[in-house]
Amino acid sequence: MLGDMMGDSLTITSIMNFAKQVFSSTEIVSVTADNPRHRSTFGEAFERTGQLANALARLGCAEGDRIATLAWNDYRHFELYYAISCSGYVCHTINPRLFPEQIIYIANHAEDQWVFVDPAFVPLLEQAQAQLTSVRGYIVLTDQSNMPETSLANAMCYETFIADEPSQFDWPELDENSASSLCYTSGTTGNPKGVLYSHRSTVLHCMGTNAGDVLGLSSAEVVMPVVPMFHVNAWGTIYGAAASGSKLVFPGPKMGDGETLAALINEEQVSLALGVPTVWLALVNYLEETGTTVKSFKKAVVGGAACPLSLMKAMDKHEVSIHVGWGMTEMSPLGTYNTLLPWMHELPEDEKDKYRLKAGRLIYGVDMRIVDEAGVALPWDGEASGRLQVRGPWVCKAYYKMEASEAHLPDGWFDTGDVATIDPYGYMAITDRTKDVIKSGGEWISSIDVENAAMGHPDIVEAAVIGVPHPKWTERPLLIVVKKPDANPKKEDLLKFLDGKIARWWIPEDCVFVEEIPHTATGKVSKKDLRDQFREYSY
Ligand code: AMP
Repeated sequence: MLGDMMGDSLTITSIMNFAKQVFSSTEIVSVTADNPRHRSTFGEAFERTGQLANALARLGCAEGDRIATLAWNDYRHFELYYAISCSGYVCHTINPRLFPEQIIYIANHAEDQWVFVDPAFVPLLEQAQAQLTSVRGYIVLTDQSNMPETSLANAMCYETFIADEPSQFDWPELDENSASSLCYTSGTTGNPKGVLYSHRSTVLHCMGTNAGDVLGLSSAEVVMPVVPMFHVNAWGTIYGAAASGSKLVFPGPKMGDGETLAALINEEQVSLALGVPTVWLALVNYLEETGTTVKSFKKAVVGGAACPLSLMKAMDKHEVSIHVGWGMTEMSPLGTYNTLLPWMHELPEDEKDKYRLKAGRLIYGVDMRIVDEAGVALPWDGEASGRLQVRGPWVCKAYYKMEASEAHLPDGWFDTGDVATIDPYGYMAITDRTKDVIKSGGEWISSIDVENAAMGHPDIVEAAVIGVPHPKWTERPLLIVVKKPDANPKKEDLLKFLDGKIARWWIPEDCVFVEEIPHTATGKVSKKDLRDQFREYSY
C-alpha cells in the first residue's frame, strides 16, 4: 500500500525559493578581487540569480548543458551555483589549481559550453583556449571598470552580462533526478573522473549534513566556507546555509591568508568555518604571532585530510573546537562527522583526544562497512581494519561518461580506496589508503606521475613515491630511489631533474636512496610495505 503524501521534487530550486521567502535579509559577505568587503543578502543574491538565468537563456543554453566555473568563493560564484542548476543546466566547478593539461582534459571531457572565470585565472584560460574544443565563450567575474584586457574569445564582463536582464525568471519544473552539478576528482589513478550530482542527491545531502550532530547549521550561525567552491560544492555549505538561514562569509582569493581569515571572523562574527588542516594552521600561526583573538569562532570543521592533534590543541587554546569530517567528491562529500557523545566529554583528556581525532560517526543517510580482501564484512570493534565501502542516495553509482564497473562497486557498495577501523560506538578512523595518491594541502598529487618523471633519469633503476607527514601540508611526497650500481647521483640533482616535468608543487622536498624497493606478489611496488618502512620519516 502506498502512502498518501505529496511527492514534490527535491530540487535545488526548492532551497532557493525557500531561502528567498524565509531568509531574504540574511547577509552574504564576500572578499573579491574588485572589492575587499562586498555585502549583500540572500534576497539580493537571488534577484541577481534570476537576472543571470535570463542572461544564460539569452545565450541559448539548453537543458543539461555543462557551464563551467573557474572561481574563488564569493557571491558571484554563489549566484552561478543556483542560476545554472535551477535553470536545468549543469554547474561544472573546475579546480584552478590543477595544471593546464588537466583543466583542458576536464573541460573537453565535460564538453563545457561557457566558462565563468575569475580575473585571476584569465591568463590560464588564454593559454588553454586553443585546445578547449567545446567552449563558446567566457564571462569574466568582475565589473566593467575592472575588466582585464583579454584574448579570450567572446569574452564578456559578468556585471554587464546580467545588467539589463529582469530578475523575474520562470524557473523550470525539474525532475529531482536531473543532473545539477559536476565535479572532477583526481583522487584516483588515471585521468580525472567526473562525479555528476543530481538535484535529489544535493538536497538529501543538505538535509543530512544540516542535522544537529553534524554541521547543525542554523540562522544563529555565521558560516565561512574556506573550503573552495570547486571542492565538492564547498562541502555542501552553499545549499546548507540557504536552507537554514546562516549568514555566509566568503574569503574569495584569500583562502590561506591567516590575517584575512582572522579579520573576517572578527568583523563578521563567524561562528563556524570549514577547511583543510593547512588553512587552520595558517590561522593559528597568525593568531599566535599577533596575539589576535577570535571570540565568535566556536567550531572549525576539518576535512579532506586527517587532523593533527597539535592543531586541535592549538585551536583549543583559542576556544575553537575542531570537528573532523570525512568524505569524498564521490560522496557529495560528507559521510562521517565527529561529534563526541555526551559521556565522552567526561573522559580524561588523552582518552577524549583518541575519539576526537577519528573521522567520526556515520551521518544518517549513508551506510558504511569495512571488509577484508575477500569482501567479507569486518566487525566494528575498533581493531579490525579493512577496505572502507559506502552506499547511499548521495554516493555516486558511476563516474560521468564511464561504465559503472569503473566506479568499483562490489555488491552495490562504493569502494572508497580508504582503509579504516570502526569502533563499537560507530567512530570510524582512517588508517591507510589503497589508492596510490598523496594529498598535500587538500590537493591531490599523483605518485605515479612523479615516479614516471623520476624514472626518466638515466642513473635510476627504480623510483617510488609515497606520502609522508608534513607539519604544514599534512602530507608531502617523498621520492625513494634505487640507483644504478655504477652511478652516484646527488639527491639535489634528482629533484632538480623533475622541474618542468611535473607541476612544481608536486616535486618532493627529499629523496632517499635504498638498496631495494619492496614488491607485491604480482610484481607491483608495495606501497604498504614502503609506508611501513618509512613510518618514522617525517618532514
Ligand atoms: P576528495 O575526493 O578530494 O574530497 O578526497 C577524498 C579523500 O580524502 C578520502 O577518500 C580520504 O582519502 C581523504 N580524506 C578526506 N577526509 C579525511 C579525513 N578526515 N581523514 C583522513 N583522510 C581524509
